[in-house]
Amino acid sequence: MRILVVEDEHRIANSIKKGLEQERYAVDVAYTGSDGYDLASTEDYDLILLDIMLPEMNGIEICKNLRKNKINIPILLLTAKGQTEDKVKGLDAGADDYMTKPFSFDELLARIRALTRRKGTVVNTILSVSDLSLDKKQYLVKRGNKEIKLSSKEFSLLEYLITNKNTIVTKDQIIAHIWDYDADILPNTIEVYIKNLRNKIDKPFKKPLINTVRGFGYRIGG
Ligand code: CA
Repeated sequence: MRILVVEDEHRIANSIKKGLEQERYAVDVAYTGSDGYDLASTEDYDLILLDIMLPEMNGIEICKNLRKNKINIPILLLTAKGQTEDKVKGLDAGADDYMTKPFSFDELLARIRALTRRKGTVVNTILSVSDLSLDKKQYLVKRGNKEIKLSSKEFSLLEYLITNKNTIVTKDQIIAHIWDYDADILPNTIEVYIKNLRNKIDKPFKKPLINTVRGFGYRIGG
């Protein structure tokens, strides 16, 4: 999951980034409204955390413009105390939810989980395909009863594949959802990650789950 944080107060922005990275999200930060808008309209994010009072372009305008351009990434507004009017404006402009600063980090995480959950699915922290399961909250991967240890990026990669199970995902999509803007990851690197993941979740078992779709990308399915 990749999140864009648009917040002009560096201290707050950086502490959110750090906290989210510890939860294995890939995070980009924009410190001005126009940088935020540019990133939001060109990169592939799963969620935007958007402050309202920003230099150059405020959060409400960003919301409006993104929605006008049919960019439907979930938006969680961060508002300062006493900006009730702004909250209403923000929701009317197409934001999905808001939080008042200062907020508890646990609540922020819960709201992010709620907003990035696929619409219509029940609260489900365990994803599965065939006999492979991935527990997002416990950070646990199992095939049958056997526990499998993955690195943080391998975990994120597997999570992305299972979230899109039976669907082909391209290397570019994988890069866009798992690495942040500064990471500079090449498509070849994805092959290395897939190979390592296969060695752990497929090779020791009879039935391989990760399929390579030549010229397109990968698909996990059972
Ligand atoms: Ca601000």
